[in-house]
Amino acid sequence: MRRFAVGSLCALLVTLCAASSSKSDEIRRGGEPCAASTRSGAGQSAARHARRDGEDLDPRQVDALLADLRRTLRERFGTDDENRVDAALRMSRRRVVVPVRFHAISSGRRGRVGPSTVRRQISTLNAAYGGRKGGVDTGVRFRLAGYDVTDRESWFWHPQRHEGEMKRRLRRGGPGTLNIFSAAVGTDMLGFSTFPQWYRGEPRMDGVVVDYRSLPGGSNRGFDRGYTAVHEIGHWLGLMHTFENGCEPPGDGVADTPYEAEPATGCPSGRNSCPQRGGDPVHNFMDYAQDACMREFTAGQGRRVRAAWAAYRAPNRRAKAVDLRTEPTTRARSVGGAR
Ligand SMILES: [Zn+2]
Repeated sequence: MRRFAVGSLCALLVTLCAASSSKSDEIRRGGEPCAASTRSGAGQSAARHARRDGEDLDPRQVDALLADLRRTLRERFGTDDENRVDAALRMSRRRVVVPVRFHAISSGRRGRVGPSTVRRQISTLNAAYGGRKGGVDTGVRFRLAGYDVTDRESWFWHPQRHEGEMKRRLRRGGPGTLNIFSAAVGTDMLGFSTFPQWYRGEPRMDGVVVDYRSLPGGSNRGFDRGYTAVHEIGHWLGLMHTFENGCEPPGDGVADTPYEAEPATGCPSGRNSCPQRGGDPVHNFMDYAQDACMREFTAGQGRRVRAAWAAYRAPNRRAKAVDLRTEPTTRARSVGGAR
């Protein structure tokens, strides 16, 4: 994203900051409204077929998100060691099943996503998060809990501009309900999402927005398998881009995703853009490669997703279903630790 946005980013940010007067962005961006927001399509002139979304972060934002997760885990479970949280949660509950509310926004017949497409998207999510495309089974599954179509031309063509109104009217459920909105996000920028850390400050903005052409069988060539939703939901579940922070620690804060200097486009082979060990994770769902290139989450990303779920989204998180404070510390690996 950074690679494409350089030329136009500054000017666009000025526009975006002026347009985005809501308190939400201030909360979201850690008190720096629009500091790194590219969510409204910065880089519109970028090469076609480059995946992009609104979740690029600067190093301070990465640190803030990781610190928030560490703090929340310690408050809830007495440790920020994801292995220990994970081990305990697996004993009590093997699988996370996320109820999904799918909201198709249309303009007449355009964007009128049918139920069969929605079902295919849910199947794609379950395959990806279940490790059936490659990588690990994250333990996360998705269940369609609601589907509706709203014919509203302005929302359809400008989902970023009308994000607040759209979500206030349509989103349902609490922190553990995934609200997906499909609309004409764009062909350069394909979607955007909130992070679980943001829920506390702004619950009504929680959710994921994807371009309707990126759904399974959609018309965006190269991005038509439904992996844009897989990627955006990764953010909703607490994952950052594999290229976050470039070659600089802590990268994306996940130990087993190799450092990556910049997003992948297309499907590069043999790329190794950072001096640290490991080739670029171009096949990871949290990179920007084309759908045909994407296939995996890592074990560390699976642990991160489950830890973030326990911290922010699990329905019983207040009840402290597990108390880890009496367990011994073994091979501790804390959130955002050395990679
Ligand atoms: Zn992203």
